[in-house]
Amino acid sequence: MKETLLEELKTLLNEDSIRYNEPMSKHTTFRIGGNAAVMVFPKTVEEISALLKWKEENQVPFVTVGNGSNLLVSDKGFDGVVMKLQSNFNEIKMEPDGKITAQAGCSLYKLALFARQHGLSGLEFAGGIPGTVGGAVRMNAGAYDGEMSQVIEQVVALDGNGNRKVFSKEECRFGYRRSIIKEEEYYVVEAVFQLAKGEHDAIKEKQEGFDRLRRQKQPLEFPSAGSTFKRPQGYFAGKLIQDAGLRGYQVGGAAVSEKHCGFVINKEKATAKEVMQVIQDVQSEVQKQFGVTLEMEVEKIGDFT
Ligand SMILES: Cc1cc2nc3c(=O)[nH]c(=O)nc-3n(C[C@H](O)[C@H](O)[C@H](O)COP(=O)(O)OP(=O)(O)OC[C@H]3O[C@@H](n4cnc5c(N)ncnc54)[C@H](O)[C@@H]3O)c2cc1C
Repeated sequence: MKETLLEELKTLLNEDSIRYNEPMSKHTTFRIGGNAAVMVFPKTVEEISALLKWKEENQVPFVTVGNGSNLLVSDKGFDGVVMKLQSNFNEIKMEPDGKITAQAGCSLYKLALFARQHGLSGLEFAGGIPGTVGGAVRMNAGAYDGEMSQVIEQVVALDGNGNRKVFSKEECRFGYRRSIIKEEEYYVVEAVFQLAKGEHDAIKEKQEGFDRLRRQKQPLEFPSAGSTFKRPQGYFAGKLIQDAGLRGYQVGGAAVSEKHCGFVINKEKATAKEVMQVIQDVQSEVQKQFGVTLEMEVEKIGDFT
């Protein structure tokens, strides 16, 4: 990045909110990815807004990350600014009307626990998803018949120029792994959740049941970004991959999980290039054998050419 831009950036944030040449492998659950030229950790919404305005005016390559649990970052890294909200935007509060407000960087685990402690049901499905509120709202994360769209009341976000916008649940236009936040590139700042009254022990039991299922079925012992592919209509990605004979298929350190074929895992010091090779090979084999297109659910950051 240009020196002049870096100098300008220093006028927008405190020095302790900026890191240079930050390895993205430290910020993704895949534990993969080259360096981000700059990583920023804004502390206030005003700082986020100023950053967005600045990147827009200067056409700076810019991306935000939550917990990096749905990301594959290029081995070449990202020659731009990565904004991370997780450490400074993780407050949750109970509103007087029984709703919960959570900031974008708050983990879903913490949010689900908070809801349970307040005897509120509806977020049991989310406790085991290793993402943040921002990332989960954007892709309408879901599991075990639950998804964010069922519990969201309102989302506060900023547009690409840093202007604040409040979306009602309907305005979020949630669909399968999509929302207006994703389609029109908004930046989530906080979300309000409307949950049902429940009983603490029953909520706990339900959530622990889901957690047990995850441990049984998912390769949580290896770094990954969860389900690699979206569910193709009428099929299950994992089953198609298994039936194609690709269980355990490996390129370098990246492999199709033997435990759950829908997960590509970082088995041993995999590179992003190796992960992509496994993904592409799986896609073409499944297409060839069953005529089904597997679309990536995991999102790519950086240059993969
Ligand atoms: C073991 C494992 C299990 C998983 N299980 C599930 C599951 O059951 N269901 C499921 O849906 N997913 C699952 N995932 C995937 C992942 O956890 C979810 O997609 C999660 O919602 C991603 O959140 P994140 O904060 O990590 O986002 P990131 O991976 O950091 O980012 C994902 C996308 O969201 C954007 N983003 C992040 N924060 C914001 C923000 N504040 N505003 C706007 N955009 C933002 C990023 O730019 C990026 O485009 C799993 C992943 C793992 C590793």
